[in-house]
Amino acid sequence: MHEYAGNLHSHTPYSDGALYHADLAQAGLRAGLDFLLVTDHNIWVDGVQGYHTAPAGKKLLLLTGEEMHNMQRQPQSSHLLVYGVPHELAAHTSDPQMLLDAVNAAGGLAFVAHPFDPAAPHFGEAAYAWEDWHVHGFHGLEIWNYMSEYKSLMTSTTAAARYAFFPAHGISGPPPAALHKWDELLAAGQTVTAIGNADAHGNTYNLGALRRCVFPYEHLYRAVNTHLLLPEPLRGEWRADELAIYAALRAGSCFVGYDAPAATRGFRFSATVGATTTNMGAQVRLPTGAALQLHAHTPALCNLRLLHNGTTVASAVQADALDYTVSVPGVYRIEASIKFHGRMRAWIFSNPIYVRE
Ligand SMILES: [Zn+2]
Ligand SMILES: [Zn+2]
Repeated sequence: MHEYAGNLHSHTPYSDGALYHADLAQAGLRAGLDFLLVTDHNIWVDGVQGYHTAPAGKKLLLLTGEEMHNMQRQPQSSHLLVYGVPHELAAHTSDPQMLLDAVNAAGGLAFVAHPFDPAAPHFGEAAYAWEDWHVHGFHGLEIWNYMSEYKSLMTSTTAAARYAFFPAHGISGPPPAALHKWDELLAAGQTVTAIGNADAHGNTYNLGALRRCVFPYEHLYRAVNTHLLLPEPLRGEWRADELAIYAALRAGSCFVGYDAPAATRGFRFSATVGATTTNMGAQVRLPTGAALQLHAHTPALCNLRLLHNGTTVASAVQADALDYTVSVPGVYRIEASIKFHGRMRAWIFSNPIYVRE
């Protein structure tokens, strides 16, 4: 498999971000990313997609999607990340199911953005959580949104300023409600792909006397990312490579990595039966008369947990691998945590391997 690290959620001045696409691409290149999906609010920006090159020659593929919601609604909740639709869908936002139907009819992908976004009442910020769980047709959840987690830390001016200067002291993982909802949907038989993103705006905030660009794009691109595993290497032609990236996302062949404590590149989670190995996102039949082995490998020592239908069934402390023989069907996924700034932090979330009867 060929691994590509990227970020699927950023804004430019086409909505409420500070910098344009070429600057985001350079920030992504400095952070070591391979691709960016830029998602302005309720506007699909065409004509900016393509490869960008760093002075040292490294390349980054920039693509555009859209973050969509009903702007008439108060609070303006239920944001949906839409990828792979080559035309504007803003006319469909009045109803979330109508929007999802339009995305699917166009062959696109839809992920629920920051599903449990908290309010920050001290700063007059409403919660932009997902309020429409009755809908169907989305492909996954943004389980970890860096800026949404920062919002949860803004409990006072002092706390907001502290974590603005030292965000790594506060950032520690997705909201538990997001992981719980993910497991609940998986247990109901749905295929749900998890992604993790920056939600980068690069904006300057006023926090009392403090005024600074709190979270530059580059800082965020070194933090919560989505790593894709592709069966073939990207070719260097953006239109073909765009399809390969969407295919991997659609297949759930990806994981969420918090790349600040240690690079997550190299993480793998696979299932082996005999000579056949399949990766994250795969649907695997529980074999009769042969063993189904799960294998997880991390690029650094960490604490590992294997979850079966949301419950831990195996774990390892200060390890870089975990093996498990499956005897019952269900949904299996890996969580890894690592020590950073004196505390254990969430580090890696695999996508599931679906073991069916
Ligand atoms: Zn949003
Ligand atoms: Zn956003």
